[in-house]
Amino acid sequence: MSVGNPGDATGRVASTPQAAGSRSQVVLLMGPPGAGKGTQASRLAESHGLTKLSTGDMLRAHVRDGTELGKRAKSLMDEGVLVPDDLIIDMVRAELEKSSPVRVLLDGFPRTTAQAEALDALLTELGAPIEAVVVLSVDSDELIRRLLGRARAEGRSDDNEDTIRTRMQVYQEQTRPLLEYYKAAGRLHRVDGVGSEAEVSARIDEILRGRA
Ligand code: ADP
Repeated sequence: MSVGNPGDATGRVASTPQAAGSRSQVVLLMGPPGAGKGTQASRLAESHGLTKLSTGDMLRAHVRDGTELGKRAKSLMDEGVLVPDDLIIDMVRAELEKSSPVRVLLDGFPRTTAQAEALDALLTELGAPIEAVVVLSVDSDELIRRLLGRARAEGRSDDNEDTIRTRMQVYQEQTRPLLEYYKAAGRLHRVDGVGSEAEVSARIDEILRGRA
């Protein structure tokens, strides 16, 4: 309630950190492998007071901890193919149900139509609609260059040339069609993902300003 804070003539109430922190906000960050989702998700989560939920990071933690899920996911991740929808959806559901209000930045989820539909149902249940879907666009030569560079720097076991090719193909076939789904819902915003981290963040901030 904004009793005592009637807002300006347009009816907009200035957002205070407290007010911003008390309402649900859901932002999706999408794009092909190597587009810079992880880096931007961390920056944006921090600057907008959102919790970053990265399904890739969550799965890598399960693999490290040797959980049942981690054991099932490891070989699929190493091949560059997707982990089954039901496992991913249960993992995300558990996280979303923990947070009230739901203030999250989703990185790497949803990746299939089934995941997108499950997310819609879950967010409807939680009363937290998706505010924006931001897609980072980077051309494929640059993506491969970045992923091979990361393989050398970080040694992620799925950053080798064969797996990278598979992950790109999986993205094209299973995840890219979702962009049409969010475009039809009027939620999609494309952002040029080439530039410094700060430049790309500024482009995303411009879209989220006034929204999240
Ligand atoms: P990238 O976007 O660079 O491929 P991620 O860290 O997002 O990297 O994902 C790494 C791997 O984890 C994927 O190749 C896939 O095996 C698995 N994974 C992550 N998120 C999902 C998801 N939403 N659905 C199915 N599998 C996933």
